[in-house]
Parts: sequence; structure tokens; C-alpha cells
Amino acid sequence: MNTALDAGRRAEELAALAAGEVVDVLVIGGGVTGAGIALDAAARGLSVALLEAHDLAFGTSRWSSKLVHGGLRYLAKGDVALAHESAVERGILMTSTAPHLSRSLPQLIPLQSTVSRGGAAFIAAGLRAGDALRRAARTPSALLPPPRRVSAPEALALAPGLRSSDLRGGLLSFDGQLTDDARLVVALARTAAGLGAKILTRAPVTALTGTSAEVRDGSRLVEVRARTVVNATGVWAGKLVPSVRLRPSLGTHLVVSADAAGLGGTALTVPIPGSRSRFALLLPQADGLVYLGLTDEPFDGDIPDVPVAPPSDVDFLLEVASSVLARPLTAGDVLGSYAGLRPLLDAPGRSADLSRKHTVLTSAEGALTIVGGKLTTYRRMAEDAVDAAVAAGNLNAGPSRTRRLPLVGAAPRTVLSTIDAPERLKAKYGTEATQVAALDPTPLTPDLPITAGEVEWAVRKEGALDAEDVLHRRTRLGLVGANLEAARERVTELVANASESRSRTV
Ligand SMILES: Cc1cc2nc3c(=O)[nH]c(=O)nc-3n(C[C@H](O)[C@H](O)[C@H](O)COP(=O)(O)OP(=O)(O)OC[C@H]3O[C@@H](n4cnc5c(N)ncnc54)[C@H](O)[C@@H]3O)c2cc1C
Repeated sequence: MNTALDAGRRAEELAALAAGEVVDVLVIGGGVTGAGIALDAAARGLSVALLEAHDLAFGTSRWSSKLVHGGLRYLAKGDVALAHESAVERGILMTSTAPHLSRSLPQLIPLQSTVSRGGAAFIAAGLRAGDALRRAARTPSALLPPPRRVSAPEALALAPGLRSSDLRGGLLSFDGQLTDDARLVVALARTAAGLGAKILTRAPVTALTGTSAEVRDGSRLVEVRARTVVNATGVWAGKLVPSVRLRPSLGTHLVVSADAAGLGGTALTVPIPGSRSRFALLLPQADGLVYLGLTDEPFDGDIPDVPVAPPSDVDFLLEVASSVLARPLTAGDVLGSYAGLRPLLDAPGRSADLSRKHTVLTSAEGALTIVGGKLTTYRRMAEDAVDAAVAAGNLNAGPSRTRRLPLVGAAPRTVLSTIDAPERLKAKYGTEATQVAALDPTPLTPDLPITAGEVEWAVRKEGALDAEDVLHRRTRLGLVGANLEAARERVTELVANASESRSRTV
């Protein structure tokens, strides 16, 4: 099982497709949805190719809050089926498919003067309902403990940056958090590749039908033929299949240091004034950073390759977060920002109310398109899309096998805890951490713990084709402008070395 993705494999596989090889399932788009579909189809024994315009996780999938969430929000809107689906998929990801890339995240809702006693009781009831979903999904309480009320001193011990003057306690609950959303996509793509899927990046599709796609490769156009085609291009889906009508919604996050926010490992969930069901999130990451999000605003106009956080979102998030902290956050604390577009299907109503359900559509020409959904439910989305492809193409395949298919690097938590490698590497590479640790351990700079070996691994195993892939998607150095500049030269040099020695060994 060869899970390694690199430039040589890409060139060989593209040549085979250009020479006329016909695959069962051709997937367009290398986000979490497309990579999930490639894996589901390959695991059923189907032949698969995936074409991604830029790089794995180039689109929305790298701009998420990185939560594997249990569907509480959908429950609040009365959508029990969607909430249950989310809780089930969270459990599968955290216990079976990707324990190495996920952890249990403690989340604290501080109870200060802005939250009335009635409001607190309402929120506590919601958290209990979320725990009922967890139980229904059979996710162990040892992994995601039930919610509980904590005293003011305990709340302060969990989040020392909270304003204490009017703190009467907090509500503590647990949800799933990914090490990194882009790494989940890479792990899915590599697992699919290990089962024979052709995963091609830098392969923009310019047109498609129900049985073919036209791909730009440098200055030439290549036709790739397939028995079925699945358009999984997220917020760009309407460009390839104009009958697909989306209503994108923009979500912004800011990046601040955990020290500035006064946080340790516990996230803060901050009620947005005037709403009982909307919250801002301060999400601590393993690298001493906190992501502060998130907004949900309608987005009109052309879809940019890389969306930008609007200044009004920055002000709003700083204000909401500061409303619970002892030391208000200011623009000077913002180390970086990012924004992503949710690929929501057009429907009447406010964009924040549009359903996060996924839908598989069939175009007049027979191409399938999958839109909506979320990172947490990628596996179920992929299962539904491949079921539709199998039916449409009359393909010979059994049911989905991905529920119990560990991604590359995955192992039960009990096994992961025995692996002899730094915790930082285990959270990124799982069982492969020992191999990465054996490579050059020199940090990129004295202040950035990412090692030269990690860059080499990205080029040799994870399909990184240039320094930008490493800076922005195999690592997340690009989220902080200062880190990006500090690391760029060294990463460029390391990528060139790794690419050169790879081509010498081929
Ligand atoms: C701000 C924000 C926060 C979120 N937070 C969470 C969260 O915490 N948890 C959660 O579960 N969900 C979350 N979501 C939802 C989740 O991120 C998305 O639903 C999911 O990432 C969409 O993945 P996708 O693969 O469908 O789209 P994308 O990731 O956008 O992938 C589409 C891919 O198609 C490629 N492409 C486009 N056109 C072409 C073409 N012509 N040829 C070839 N390739 C092409 C793009 O380059 C891109 O890589 C969040 C969304 C947003 C916006």
C-alpha cells in the first residue's frame, strides 16, 4: 500500500489518464469532500482519479474552525436528524478513523453579568441535549465528558484571562477539535492513494460532462474519461455546472496569541449580545495560538481564490471576545486572520439560517455535484456521493467501508500514547511520527518548532509541490504573517533540496 504522494507519481498518473485510461469515478476538487469521496470509492474497489486545481485543501477546508462538532447548533434549530448525523460522524472520526488528528476540547461558557440566570439555564439545557446526542451516538464519556457547571475559581483556573469582577461561574462542555483541517484532507487523500486512487494537484478542470473532464496541464488541455464524474468543488461548484445555485456565506477568524487572550488549553464560548443561540469562539491551538471566530455573513460577487477577512468582522470579533476578558483584545493583538466561504445551497432566508445539510445533485449531462455539509460529516457525504455514482454509472461495488477504515497514521489512543515521539509530531502524524522524528530535527528558526524533517516529509510523502504548499497547507505557518516571512526562505531551500534528491532517487 503506497500512500506516498509526490511529483513523480503525479506525472506518471496524469500521463496514464491522458493516454486514455478510463476510471470508474472521477472526482473534481481536493477539499475534504472530494478527498473523502476518492477514499470511499477506492475503498469499495473502484478505480478513482481526483483532480484538484491548486493543492489539497486549497479551498474552504483549510479555513474552518477545525471543530468536529456534535450538532448542538442543528438541534437548537429543531433539525434532530442532522444533529444526530453530526454526533455520529464526530464519534467515528475521534474513535476510529482519525484519533491521531483529533482531541477532546474543553469549552467554557463564562457566566458574567451579560448572561442572565434564565439565559444560563437555557444554555445549560442545550448542553445537556448535546450530551444526549453524544450518548445516542455511543461516543464514550471518557472521551467527551458530560457538561457541568463550574465555580468562579474553577472557571478562572481554566481560563485565567477572564474578567473576574462579575464572574459567577461557568458552563463547561466538551467537543472534538482537529489538529488541523488541512492535515485531515491530506490524510484522506493519502489513504485513498494507498488504495490506488490517482490524486492529482495542479490539475484545474475547465469543463466537464457526465463521463469526462477537460484538464489544463501547463499549456495543453487533457481529456480525462470516466464512467461517472463527481463535482466536489465546494463554493466553486456552479462554475463547472451552472445549474447549481449556491449562496456562499463568509466566515472570519482572527489569530491571536494564547498569552494575549489569557488562555490555556480550554476554549471560551462567548454569547453574542442580543442572541441566545449565537456564540463567538476562542479556540486554543497546540502551538500557543488562539483562533477567534467566527462570523456568518452573506457573500455576493465573484468567488475569490483566497477570501479576505473584512475589517468590520475583525472589529466585531475583537469586541465580542473582549466583552468577557480582563484585558480587552485590540487590533495590535491580531497576528493574522483568515476567512472562508461556506458552500451552501441557495434557498429562501438569511444565510446564517441556510441548512448545513448536504445534497447530491445530477446535471442534465449526468455529472453529479455534492454541495453543503461540513467538515465533520465529510465521511457520510462521501458515502452518499459514491452511492449516487454507483447507481448512476451502474458500477459494480458494495456498500461504503469507510466507517472502520483508519486514515494513514491513525491508531487507537491507547496505542498512540505508547509511541516514542514528541507529542507535537504525534498530533500531526500519528503512528508516522517516529519516521518524521528520525528526519532532520533542526527547527526552521529558533522560534518555530517545525523541523526541516517535516518539510522533507511534506515533499516526499504528502504531495507538497512547492514552498507555498508547505507554508500554507502542510504546515499552517502562513496564518501568521511574521512566521510566514521568517520561514519562507528556509522552507524554499528545503523544498528544493527534497525535490532534487527525490528526482535523483527515481
Ligand atoms: C469559516 C468557516 C468555518 C467552518 N468551521 C467548520 C468546523 O469547525 N467544523 C465543520 O465541520 N465544518 C466547518 N465549516 C464547514 C466546512 O469547512 C466546509 O463545509 C468544507 O470544508 C467544504 O469542503 P469542500 O471539500 O466541499 O470544499 P473546498 O474545501 O472548498 O474544496 C473544493 C476544492 O475544489 C477545488 N476546485 C475548485 N474549482 C476547481 C476546478 N475547476 N478544477 C479542479 N479543482 C477545483 C478548490 O481548489 C478546492 O480545493 C466551516 C466553514 C467555514 C467557511
